[in-house]
Amino acid sequence: MVFSAVEMGALKKALAGIEFVDNPSEVETWGRDWTRYYKVHSIGAVFPRTTAEVSRVLAYCNSNSIEVVPSGGRTGLSAGAVAVRGELILSLSRMNKILAWDPSAQCVDVEAGVVHEALQDYLEPKGFHWPVDLASKGSC
Ligand SMILES: Cc1cc2nc3c(=O)[nH]c(=O)nc-3n(C[C@H](O)[C@H](O)[C@H](O)COP(=O)(O)OP(=O)(O)OC[C@H]3O[C@@H](n4cnc5c(N)ncnc54)[C@H](O)[C@@H]3O)c2cc1C
Repeated sequence: MVFSAVEMGALKKALAGIEFVDNPSEVETWGRDWTRYYKVHSIGAVFPRTTAEVSRVLAYCNSNSIEVVPSGGRTGLSAGAVAVRGELILSLSRMNKILAWDPSAQCVDVEAGVVHEALQDYLEPKGFHWPVDLASKGSC
């Protein structure tokens, strides 16, 4: 997808209030994972902080046939988080809050961008262990 200036203006207006970058060097950074093999081509990266903001982004993209690439820690090794055909990058990196801990149910409620190691560090002092323990746990 190639965006005209008018379409880009409309996108920025629709996403007003949500962090957005479209300068080439930042898009290059956010638009790829660890594969480092494909050339990044993206209209920009958006950084919602709430599920309501995610909904706003997706509603606009759905209405305007804009493809979206979700992005977490960008340590994937199968190019799933690489934007190559003008997609919008939807980074979950700002949604990194641990929302609630219920010791009686042994349940923790987290946002979609919480990093594994942060969750381990949160639970260990409480006597619990988050067992997803990848080598990339510090960023994924
Ligand atoms: C140094 C290093 C060590 C690693 N060690 C291991 C290991 O020990 N074990 C292992 O299994 N893997 C390992 N990996 C591979 C990789 O880190 C893991 O697969 C990791 O789970 C990827 O998570 P991420 O947040 O970085 O995902 P990303 O690379 O950002 O995304 C991966 C895929 O998930 C999608 N996605 C990301 N976040 C969301 C979300 N919140 N909602 C919906 N879709 C989403 C993306 O669009 C993409 O398709 C390693 C990679 C590196 C670079």
